[in-house]
Amino acid sequence: MPAAQPSMTAFALRPRLSAMAAMSAVGLGLLIAPAGIATADPAKSTTTSTSSRQAPDSLFPEVGSSRYNVKHYAIKLSYQTSGEIKAKTTVIAKTKKPLKSFSLDLEGLTVDAVKVNGDRADFSRRDNKLIIKSSKVLDGRFSVTIKYHGKPVTHIDPDGAKDGWIPTADGGVVVLSEPVGAMTWFPNNNTPRDKATFDMKITVPAKLEAAGSGDLRSVRKHDGLETWRWVQPKQQATYLAMIAIDNFDVYRSTMTTTTGRKLPIWSFIEPELGTQATARALIPKAIRYMERRFGAYPFNSAGIVVKDSDVDYALETQNRPVFDIDEGETVRELTNVHEWAHQWYGNSVTLSDWGDIWLNEGFATYAEWLWTASHGGQSTAERLQTEYDANPADDELWSPAPADFSNPADLFGSQGYLRGAMTLEVLQQEVGSRDFFVILRRWAQDNEYGNVSTREFIALSERVSGEDLDALFQAWLFTVGKPALS
Ligand SMILES: [Zn+2]
Repeated sequence: MPAAQPSMTAFALRPRLSAMAAMSAVGLGLLIAPAGIATADPAKSTTTSTSSRQAPDSLFPEVGSSRYNVKHYAIKLSYQTSGEIKAKTTVIAKTKKPLKSFSLDLEGLTVDAVKVNGDRADFSRRDNKLIIKSSKVLDGRFSVTIKYHGKPVTHIDPDGAKDGWIPTADGGVVVLSEPVGAMTWFPNNNTPRDKATFDMKITVPAKLEAAGSGDLRSVRKHDGLETWRWVQPKQQATYLAMIAIDNFDVYRSTMTTTTGRKLPIWSFIEPELGTQATARALIPKAIRYMERRFGAYPFNSAGIVVKDSDVDYALETQNRPVFDIDEGETVRELTNVHEWAHQWYGNSVTLSDWGDIWLNEGFATYAEWLWTASHGGQSTAERLQTEYDANPADDELWSPAPADFSNPADLFGSQGYLRGAMTLEVLQQEVGSRDFFVILRRWAQDNEYGNVSTREFIALSERVSGEDLDALFQAWLFTVGKPALS
């Protein structure tokens, strides 16, 4: 996710957390802990023990389960223009220890029936949990099928942003689920550390189109309806699964990667927003640019979705980022670049805990700096100095520390984005650019389709450079306050 498009300028990066939203979060009692002045021990701060807890995430303990691993989601969803859906989701999972009952995350909607391994199962709802009791003990691989219907709700995040199922003014819908909105449209294990493959069959009235994350397998016409099948053969976190339903113009083309691979490109543009030809032309350029720096593009197709949805942010949904613009606007080049960088850092290499958001946003912001430097703008070193000078010690940029969040409302603050990118440039200056780019490439390659932590990034940086980098990361990632810049 990048900063809100209209307010983002070169030297004043302010992501989606507005002052108003921050105040309302405080007003709602969501501010869990004030930013402390003590510094944190990196080893402790970045390791979240899950062995004894059912909830895996430090910032969103109410979602996710660590008692099983999901392998695959099969989602069949039928959308009516009234805004109602009728759906069936099958989850293929594997237990970690034998279990008789387990929970999936689901907010809103009415559950009609649940089957476990083909047998009807009892279920109940509590808060945003669907609790399922199997008639037999589950040990190893199992499947659960949930039939449900209703008008999905939109989840509101601690920072006030819309998340999950988002109806739009023109009668369409867009699903943008970072961090926890995926539970508004299908039951799932809603933690980024449990990635899975997906198969989505989205049925819409024939006058509409259904965009999705993954690769388009077929569009089948039947009885005045169309079923769009989107298959994701690569691991995907639930927050990166996307559908967007509207009267779109669909653009299809093919690109060649730097390794000679042919990738289909499917883009979906709201007709009132023009053709967005410049934004679409950037896709192959951005992918090849990043392949030369970060390694092979990790997925099998690409594209963009451009829609006036009033969410005021873009999202790096897998294969196919979604951009929110108003009529007369074009997708901002650096926002587009930012979302493509996330396909490596965020989507293929995914954080294990939301407290490590800088591993997503610091890297994608740094990719913007690299792109700017390669296209006649400031060098990354000049950019670091500019940002350092522009942000006084009392600026919110310096508190909380980017890898030591305790308040979920801070998730999209400047600390993870801008201070995260500054940390990477400081690292480059310390280890030299040759080792630095080895680190970036190996981070993407060694962890392809996997999950990572800050501790692992520090360990890799030390291994590649042969340097002790504890002091650098302690100052830039774990300590509140403006670090010294030599
Ligand atoms: Zn981002």
